[in-house]
Amino acid sequence: MIRQTMAVEEIEADIVQYIENWYANPPPHPEGYRPKGIPTFRNLQTRYGKQGIGQVAMYLSSHPSVVLWQGLSQSLAQAFSNLLTSGAVHWHWAFLVFYEEGGPLPLPEAAWPVTNEYGKPHWLPVVFKPGERCDDDIGCPNYTGTGEEDEERFETA
Ligand SMILES: [Zn+2]
Repeated sequence: MIRQTMAVEEIEADIVQYIENWYANPPPHPEGYRPKGIPTFRNLQTRYGKQGIGQVAMYLSSHPSVVLWQGLSQSLAQAFSNLLTSGAVHWHWAFLVFYEEGGPLPLPEAAWPVTNEYGKPHWLPVVFKPGERCDDDIGCPNYTGTGEEDEERFETA
């Protein structure tokens, strides 16, 4: 139940539940399209209505010119920040996802992996995923594997 006066802790609990539910039961979708409601900043911000809208931008502390999202309320930005810090969820680079749902931020797009510091703000498109990291080596900022888990290997003489 979404009210317009949720405490930060209530928003955090709701975000985690939404993200875990979404990946456990992604909505049906046509081939080649992402299922609706994928947990992006935009979709989650929309979920909280007016209480999610404000003046706060979230950016990478390692790369202050790289913006994850902007126009957030203080309480929603605080909730995202707490969840990312605790490792309850992580952001994961998601090329093109915003062109299908709701549109991108009106900023030039940052390249992945993030290595550049830009002279003006650039936007890094991401989705949220459960936990501190996942096993997808492309786009996961906290990936710890070798990158070879999905490869088929054939030994030849
Ligand atoms: Zn990931």
